[in-house]
Amino acid sequence: PGRFDRRVVVGLPDVRGREEILRVHVKKVPVSDDTNLNVLARGTPGFSGADLANMVNEAALSAARMNRKQVTMYDFELAKDKVLMGAERKSMLLTDEEKRVTAYHEGGHALVSYLRDHSDPIHKVTIIPRGMALGVTIFLPDDRHNYTREYLETRLAIAYGGRVSEEVFLNQMSTGAGSDIETATDLARRMVCEYGMSRLGPLTFGKKEEQIFLGREIAQHRDFSEETARQIDLEVRRLIDEAYQSAHTIIEANQDPMHRIAAALLERETIDAEEVKMLIEGRELPPIRSILASPSDGSGGVQQVLKPESRGGPN
Ligand code: ZN
Repeated sequence: PGRFDRRVVVGLPDVRGREEILRVHVKKVPVSDDTNLNVLARGTPGFSGADLANMVNEAALSAARMNRKQVTMYDFELAKDKVLMGAERKSMLLTDEEKRVTAYHEGGHALVSYLRDHSDPIHKVTIIPRGMALGVTIFLPDDRHNYTREYLETRLAIAYGGRVSEEVFLNQMSTGAGSDIETATDLARRMVCEYGMSRLGPLTFGKKEEQIFLGREIAQHRDFSEETARQIDLEVRRLIDEAYQSAHTIIEANQDPMHRIAAALLERETIDAEEVKMLIEGRELPPIRSILASPSDGSGGVQQVLKPESRGGPN
């Protein structure tokens, strides 16, 4: 105290900032002529400077692994996924049943996000384990700094899409939804207590004592009555119930698209936004994913499916 009393907030870079940051980092690596920093900058919303540095580094490693003299856009795409979604855990083999659960779970997130307004665009949906997760649905948020209530409500509904899908299609609940539930509960509480987005009106409840040293809140002291505490709980519950119900309605009404998404995930392991759209619309997917198709490695699409335990190429 007295020394660390000042906070300097460094926001995330916008698209121009990201392009400039990339320009600095690619100076250190030989990049191919097809490398377009503007495209990369536009495809990496939400990346910090450190993420971008990391991405360039991973792209260089990817090129080196494949004995290429130059880093190509393909390497950058792989590196972006790695930074966005965490490294694939190829050693972690899921049972067929786990894969099925994960496919319906992630498909549920994707379906709800696609069919609700105000959601961020999907980047990819995958059932390849990454980090602690068995599967992930990744979004590409805009460069925005302010969120509407509708957007947050949609976020809540998307969070429950995974659990609801498991319930509807597999008639079960699994621990896979644990972090979704935690995130959603936390968000709903903030909507009530910090953002004034509930029937309790535009008030904040609970002053946070932040320990600036660690940059983390350590204690929250209560500045409201028992009665208010009870109302807060009810409002949090109401927001969650509505989100859950919304996810349920969407998934119930779109069972065929959901089966198609799950089947595609089981077959291909990863699908992108365009493929999610095609599946929902009932269109046939092209046989092999084209975006990441690389002439020199076998990490894309169908080959992964045929030989999951011997995938070569970049990680
Ligand atoms: Zn989930």
